[in-house]
Amino acid sequence: MAGEQLVPTGAARSGLPTLGRTTPAADKETTMEAPVLSTPATAISAEQENNPWLAQAARFDEAARRLNLDAGLWKVLRFPSREIIVHIPVSMDDGSVEVFTGYRVQHSISRGPCKGGIRYSPDVSLDEVRALASWMTWKCAVVNIPFGGAKGGVICDPKTMSQGELERMTRRYTAALIEFIGPEKDVPAPDMGTNEQTMAWVMDTYSMHMGQTMTSVVTGKPVSLGGSRGRREATGRGISVVVDQALKHLNMVPAETTVIVQGFGNVGSNAAKLLWEKGYKIIGIGEFDGALHNPNGIDISELLQHRARTGSIHKFAGASAFDKDTLLTQPCDVLIPAATENVITSRNAHQLQCRILCEGANGPTTPLADDILGEKGVFIIPDILANAGGVTTSYFEWVQDRMGYFWTEDEVNQRLDRIMMDSFTDVLQYAIAHDVNNRIAAYMLAIDRVAHTTRQRGIYA
Ligand code: NAD
Repeated sequence: MAGEQLVPTGAARSGLPTLGRTTPAADKETTMEAPVLSTPATAISAEQENNPWLAQAARFDEAARRLNLDAGLWKVLRFPSREIIVHIPVSMDDGSVEVFTGYRVQHSISRGPCKGGIRYSPDVSLDEVRALASWMTWKCAVVNIPFGGAKGGVICDPKTMSQGELERMTRRYTAALIEFIGPEKDVPAPDMGTNEQTMAWVMDTYSMHMGQTMTSVVTGKPVSLGGSRGRREATGRGISVVVDQALKHLNMVPAETTVIVQGFGNVGSNAAKLLWEKGYKIIGIGEFDGALHNPNGIDISELLQHRARTGSIHKFAGASAFDKDTLLTQPCDVLIPAATENVITSRNAHQLQCRILCEGANGPTTPLADDILGEKGVFIIPDILANAGGVTTSYFEWVQDRMGYFWTEDEVNQRLDRIMMDSFTDVLQYAIAHDVNNRIAAYMLAIDRVAHTTRQRGIYA
């Protein structure tokens, strides 16, 4: 396969010059070294706090230590099992050829095929994809679905690319990964910068190579191509369910609960809409280029119509323009970061004024910020629980594709609600039983489940 490198754990990156229209974030990557098992947890310095791989590893180490995980399993579960880097040539609309760098990291197949999204963003790095792949393993285990974890990413700026360029890049990326993905191997899904159309191209490219239509190779497809009803809203729906559960636990009621949401994409807009429909007061919405605020509440249905008409949330009559960075530190009951990593750090965690932090995005809070929020008594619903509604309905989609029989939206939603409620209870009980915070409880629950299947399967030699 031209242009592909299989990178063994710990290997340095290829060192190629600038590829595509953005530069690989080489300086962000770390060389993974074997864990020092005698230290209680990976110590994170202020300079390292924005590295998502180290953030994941720090939480993993803490949970593994509390579980008394044996040294061998610790090493097996700490590192991804396979990392693939591809450099993919794409014909651009102006006749030039660009080469884009893409990744697929497969963290674990212990509980089933790998599962995880594909991200298109200028900021994608190998360390980010490693972290996201590991989080997928823990997330699937928290909600107890039979998948391991993986993640993919391509360094590109989808906002500046035409549909034709995106299609050609997606097909070439899929072709480069063809032997590593499949319904029983690794099942991609959408993530930031990718959507149902991207998944349709992945499915079609894979099917063309296999000589038959194979819908179950990806999830998050259009419903007309084997997608599941309810998948588009599933992550936001899962968030609305766990926020409801947190309110019950903390003796709060929706009608008196204010919410701020950062990111008005798939996750953020659906979470905001569903919570607004349940009577929560959404007082702030943040986007990458500005924010909206209204202490009396924003009509989310009207905001969605406004965005559909104008292409952005800005100049919306039902709220005032607001600074996107200070939005996160405004008083509210529930804060939902639903955009990207590292938005709550040691620099702003002291200023947060929320009672509940529900992590719609993956990795929005750094470990140093966790410590500060713990001291402030913020109730955190960690990402690997809060945003697991998406992968849960992706699991339903995979099941339906393999059966060739499709459920109603009500059936999908009822099953999703049940799993999210049960998982919230499992994590909370784990936290109480082990006297740890919700995040470490979720990691412990997940690691315990993956360690169990890894022990049962044994180490193949
Ligand atoms: P998306 O691309 O649909 O939406 C992301 C939104 O965030 C966009 O509107 C973008 O403009 C905005 N944004 C980007 N940077 C921002 C910033 N700095 N400040 C404010 N807004 C910003 O992506 P998505 O699918 O909604 O994913 C969002 C997050 O949720 C990611 O961390 C992703 O990994 C996670 N997630 C997504 C799913 C899913 O089903 N889509 C499931 C689980 C987790």
